[in-house]
Formats: sequence, C-alpha cells, structure tokens
Amino acid sequence: ENRILDVDDLRVSFKTYVGEIQAVRGVSFHLDKGEVLAIVGESGCGKSVTAQTIMRLIPTPPSHIKEGSSVLFNGKHEITRMSDKAMEKLRGSEMGMIFQDPMTSLNPTMTIGAQITEGLIKHQNMSKKQANERAIEMLKLVGMSNPQGRIHQYPHELSGGMRQRVMIAISLACNPKLLIADEPTTALDVTIQAQILDLMKQIQHKTDTAIIIITHDLGVVADIAQRVIVMYAGKVVEEGTLEDIFYNSRHPYTWGLLRSVPRLDSDSKSELSPIPGSPPDLFAPPKGCSFAARCPYAMQVCKDNDPAHTPITDRHSAACWLLHPDAPKVNRPLEVGEQAHG
Ligand code: SF4
Ligand code: MG
Repeated sequence: ENRILDVDDLRVSFKTYVGEIQAVRGVSFHLDKGEVLAIVGESGCGKSVTAQTIMRLIPTPPSHIKEGSSVLFNGKHEITRMSDKAMEKLRGSEMGMIFQDPMTSLNPTMTIGAQITEGLIKHQNMSKKQANERAIEMLKLVGMSNPQGRIHQYPHELSGGMRQRVMIAISLACNPKLLIADEPTTALDVTIQAQILDLMKQIQHKTDTAIIIITHDLGVVADIAQRVIVMYAGKVVEEGTLEDIFYNSRHPYTWGLLRSVPRLDSDSKSELSPIPGSPPDLFAPPKGCSFAARCPYAMQVCKDNDPAHTPITDRHSAACWLLHPDAPKVNRPLEVGEQAHG
C-alpha cells in the first residue's frame, strides 16, 4: 500500500464558555508516501487544527473529535482512537512536526545535540553514541556547518533560520513517514525562507517522507507542493494538483486567493486585491455555502444549500454550485495582462 494517510469526514469542535466552535467541519483527503500536499487558506480556516488533530497535539477537552471522524495512518493506526501513550510513541517514531516559531518548540535549556538525541534514545532504543552520530548526520543533512561543534550549542546561540533547520533535523531524526510543517517559513525573511523550502524539497527527494505543508502563502505552495487542498471555514472547498489549482481553479474562493498573491512580474502592489469581507462565525456556521456572504457569484441556491464536491477530473474537485450543470456559466476572472487559457 502506498497510502500514508486517509482522513475521512474529520470534524473537530472546541467547547468554550460561550458555545461550541466548529473548527473543522467534515474534512476528507488522503496522502501517499513521499507526496507533498499543501493545505492553504486564511487564518482560522481550520488548517492548523486539522494538522494538529492528525498528530493529536490538541488536548481533548477542550477539543472534541466528533463521532464518525477517521484519521487512518499508514493503513493501520486509527489516530482518533489511539491512547495518549501509543500516540506519543507514534509521534516519536513515525511522525514529525515543524512549527512557525522554532523558539516555542525548542527547549532553551538543552543543547541542540541533546534535543536531537532525546527522541532517538527514548523511542528508537539507540545508544547515546549512536544517537550522537545520528544527530551529527542530521545536522549535515539540514545543511549546518560544523555539526560536531553545533551539537554543544543552545537555541539562543543560533539565528532564526538555523533554529528552523534544527527543528527540521529533530523532526527528521527518527525517519518519519509523515512530516507536517505548519507555516514553517512565515517567521523568516525571504532569503532564508527560500533556503528552508529548498531544504525541505531536498529532504523529500532523499528520504521519501510525505509532507503536509500548512500555509496561507500561495508562493510557498507553488514552490513546494504537488497537490493542494484549499480550506475555507472549516471545510475543503477545492482540491487538485498544483496545476489544477493555479491554472484551472474552479472555486470563487480560490480565485480570490490567487488574485491576492503579489505577482512576480508586477512592479507595484496595487494589483493586490484581498477578498473583501470576513469568514463566517463558526459558532453558528451558515446552512448554505460558507463563502456565500463574500462571493460575487452567490445565487439563492448558495444561501439555502451547502454545495457538495463536484469532480472535475479524478484528482480535481470543488464544492461550488457554479459547477452544477444548470448553473450560469462563469469563467475565472482574468487578471491584468493575463491571456485566456485554451
Ligand atoms: Fe459562490 Fe455559490 Fe459557489 Fe458558494 S456555491 S462559492 S456562494 S457560487
Ligand atoms: Mg495556523
């Protein structure tokens, strides 16, 4: 089996003192070994909650994984039903995660070496010597000079980019089958961002680790992803290959996201048009399409009924009433200077 992850109808809510927020509302997707999948959307769309639920990093309560949700890892581990102990072991051996700010996940009181070797000794039964050798090997893999010296350094002695490299080294040391990276380059400046993305691409070639990259940045998506999931208000609204999403997207929200990306060939930022309005209140989600209040194409049917996913090809689908055979024909609005495709 080539499948590393199967997420089926994942629903996650949070109980708060003012009610229940439905953060993830029926998300389904899959991931094959060695694939790079991007989950993209605005903040609050449920992409981070989805990722953290896959790794079971959110305590329950306050989070609550709804009955009927399934997250099957490597064809055999049902994540939603695993014990905390078994889950900790799985995280230490088959899954890795890197976050936006490495400072919050690195331990300031431990050397880099100790942080890389900790999991290896605990979960992989390595001796201290073996683990140290592996740590040095990992620091080389992530492109750090003088790894023998680095293992004695503390996080505060490193730059932001170096710390992110260390995080990647820690998460890859156990040879995970799945790496989840949540906004891994957002806190870094543009040059370092490009280096870290390059590093992730190299690693993916060398190790065959499947990667889920969570980002609001379509530039990052274009750089690294093979497949893309677009999330809005706790749901997947479009899914496809990188080419499908960038050149043949079919959901008005995806069009809006694409229009708000700075174009490399443009010399001003004036063409940027962020989508007007804000996402719906997830304490009381709308019964129809979640995007209806912001969508320039919204019809009455959109307000009354939530659209199901319509397949466009076997890898591309979108949840929008415009794909209904009886819907009025709408083409993706062209951008300034853009030629129509086909
Ligand atoms: Fe817009 Fe309707 Fe499509 Fe929703 S279903 S994105 S409101 S056209
Ligand atoms: Mg986030």
